[in-house]
Amino acid sequence: MNILEKAEQMLRAHPLCDYCLGRQFALLGFGLENKSRGKAIKSLLTMEGHRLLHNEELASSLLRVVAINGSFDMARDILMHFSKFPQEKPACFLCEGQVENSAVIAYKAIEELKGLEFSTFLVGVELPHRIAEREDEFKARFNVTHGESMKSQFSRNIGKQIYEITGKEVDYRKPDLVVLANPFTNFVQLQTNPVYVGGKYRKLVRGIPQSRWVCGECNGKGCEICSWTGKRYSDSIEELIGIPILKITKGEEMAFHGSGREDVDARMLGFGRPFVLEVKKPKTRFFDLKKLELTINDNAKGKIEVHDLYFANKNIIRRLKKAEANSKIYRMIVMFDQSISDEELQKIERVLSDVTIRQQTPQRVLHRRADLRRDKYIYKTKVKRLSYNQAELQIHCQGGLYIKELITGDKGRTNPSVASILRIKATPLQLDVLEIISGE
Ligand SMILES: [Zn+2]
Ligand SMILES: [Zn+2]
Repeated sequence: MNILEKAEQMLRAHPLCDYCLGRQFALLGFGLENKSRGKAIKSLLTMEGHRLLHNEELASSLLRVVAINGSFDMARDILMHFSKFPQEKPACFLCEGQVENSAVIAYKAIEELKGLEFSTFLVGVELPHRIAEREDEFKARFNVTHGESMKSQFSRNIGKQIYEITGKEVDYRKPDLVVLANPFTNFVQLQTNPVYVGGKYRKLVRGIPQSRWVCGECNGKGCEICSWTGKRYSDSIEELIGIPILKITKGEEMAFHGSGREDVDARMLGFGRPFVLEVKKPKTRFFDLKKLELTINDNAKGKIEVHDLYFANKNIIRRLKKAEANSKIYRMIVMFDQSISDEELQKIERVLSDVTIRQQTPQRVLHRRADLRRDKYIYKTKVKRLSYNQAELQIHCQGGLYIKELITGDKGRTNPSVASILRIKATPLQLDVLEIISGE
């Protein structure tokens, strides 16, 4: 069946606006909006109807079908010319006239967008059930093979109108925000995508957890034990970095994503640990990262330091989470419960280089981690004597190795360990992460 025959069948069955008729043939022809497609088809049908005018029963004539069900002025004018006035102007069977009205939604969206900073957007459309079902049935009944959905029609129309007024571009992949609209209920809602700020942090002092640590006594409500702060530690890296960013973006919520984490009592030195701070529902998304860096570092002076800030995205968080791909260099001060010989220190160096450590999840984290056995590799260990019973160990190992347990042995759960090699008690005193070496 050719295009005109099919279009005639559709119009004989239902009133259809220019958009909805044209849309059934959307994949045919280039650089044409569906409205023009629909008009072109209706024009040709009108010409055909005009040719047949005197051979057809008026009531069922093609001209009358295009004039009424097509609401098409040219067909109407011809009938009027022959004093045959068609009265009815039924609403489009598929969109009920709403596609022509999409500017209403566009203006409503533009109102809501005022005061928000963004450069790209996308329009997502929801249709009432009955409308979506009707469209599906229609397409099946007329075997529409080159059509487009009503949803994309609406989304393109509304997007174009927003673009023409605001100058902001439509982005299908990573829009700054999404305009959700239901043109049949006049519903408009904005979904602002998060802002992500990535960088690296150094932690210069011990005693700061990575994430906000809620007081276990009062569950954050505030009690005597936590001096009414609701927190076990007054500072966290998440807050020291996140609060200035939350302020500048006027966002509602934040989430901290680190490439692994060090213990509360370990420092993080060297070039620092990669992180991404995510701000949900930001109102501002363009700001000077250099200034932000200064603000964070000023506020957190002596505690932490950030550098190399950049605008990140979701994919970077995914990569950060594969922190185990990184190798790390740690510095650990160890105390032995008796004096230790040079030979013994050399033995630690020898055994803990180029070796795989078998490690069962440490007892101290068992309450929040699954009890698993991991095999982690140590590339090299260097040992330096500090006193008769203290030494400094520099350990370059695969990410994910628990270093404190490498010293104590954790009652045999980590093997080999400094304690098991020397068969004496060894206590970790101070831990620093000296470097995180990216595995990419
Ligand atoms: Zn329509
Ligand atoms: Zn408390």
